Amino acid sequence: MAIPFFKEMRIGGYLLKQKMLGRKRYPLVLMLEPLFRCNLACVGCGKIDYPDAILNRRMTAQECWDAADECGAPMVAIPGGEPLIHKEIGEIVRGLVERKKFVSLCTNALLLEKKLDLFTPSPYLFFSVHLDGLKDHHDKAVSQKGVFDRAVSAIKAAKARGFTVNVNATIFDGHPAEEIAKFLDLTVELGVGVSMSPGYAYERAPDQEHFLNRTKTKKLFRDVFAMGKGKKWNFMHSGLFLDFLAGNQEYECTPWGMPARNIFGWQKPCYLLGEGYAKTFKELMDTTDWETYGTGKYEKCADCMAHCGYEPTAATAALNNPLKAMWVSLRGIKTSGPMAPEIDMSKQRPAQYIFSEQVQKKLSEIRKDEAAAAQAKAAQKASTAA
Ligand code: SF4
Ligand code: SF4
Repeated sequence: MAIPFFKEMRIGGYLLKQKMLGRKRYPLVLMLEPLFRCNLACVGCGKIDYPDAILNRRMTAQECWDAADECGAPMVAIPGGEPLIHKEIGEIVRGLVERKKFVSLCTNALLLEKKLDLFTPSPYLFFSVHLDGLKDHHDKAVSQKGVFDRAVSAIKAAKARGFTVNVNATIFDGHPAEEIAKFLDLTVELGVGVSMSPGYAYERAPDQEHFLNRTKTKKLFRDVFAMGKGKKWNFMHSGLFLDFLAGNQEYECTPWGMPARNIFGWQKPCYLLGEGYAKTFKELMDTTDWETYGTGKYEKCADCMAHCGYEPTAATAALNNPLKAMWVSLRGIKTSGPMAPEIDMSKQRPAQYIFSEQVQKKLSEIRKDEAAAAQAKAAQKASTAA
């Protein structure tokens, strides 16, 4: 997902307004997941491991717009699942753009060329194409040959039609820095912006071996950034977030900065971690025990350095200390020397595992809904017959 935080004045204005209003917690980007179904099964994915009854569920267009209105974030990222599978996706995006939300539609691009007609180019709409690296690497990450070529072809087609396209890469352990650098060179050739984030260690992802720990993440990003000196890589991140990835800033995450809404409701506490659901955005903000999440506080957060938790922190840091942000952007990312001290992990609470419980709860709701719908249908049939 590409988030052009500082490229859009309206986002800067929104941040400033929140600061002036003295708000402690506010959302920057709504992570809207209108469905979990996908046409790929990537080994590092933690989003698609649900029974069919849940994978077949969709948020309606109205529910998507209501979520955007309720939350009020200036930007909406639409990951999934694969959003282009959703039959109403054109309608959903149109309604969000009408609301003047910046929309980042995240897609693996398999359906993108075919569905371009559903969309109209707009300064508010970005396609964010999932590309985890160069051809062999990407096809391996998504467990299917030919996906890289189709994604690149779709990027070119979308650009030719006047759409803004970015790519988003999730970085896993074992991806050599030299290859990541070559991949970033390719994004320059393609003329697209790029966002990169270390993969979050989803407990349900099929491949549990290749998630990066914090030390490896920082070292890897330092190596990559060192190779980028003088190049024109167009990152869709703030300088301070990149500086954090390179181990030069010690940040705590801001889980409410990118709240997630999906078919279960508002996800507690963040897009990466499903520890319960709230019915409304207000309930999410009021009832989540925010202090119990984050690196050093909760085992499941130990290695997280993902953009959705830390880009909002970097954005707030830049707002509070613009000179520091400016200095980092002038100096570039520091790729040698001592790193910022690591957060103390000795007091983190143990992980709780509630995935199955939530799935069972949702399945019984679905069964109840289906039974009620069948009953209503039967009653209507009976009254028509009478
Ligand atoms: S394309 Fe995205 S949602 Fe689909 S399986 Fe891969 S990571 Fe998961
Ligand atoms: S560290 Fe923060 S952003 Fe990452 S999983 Fe934990 S709560 Fe979510």
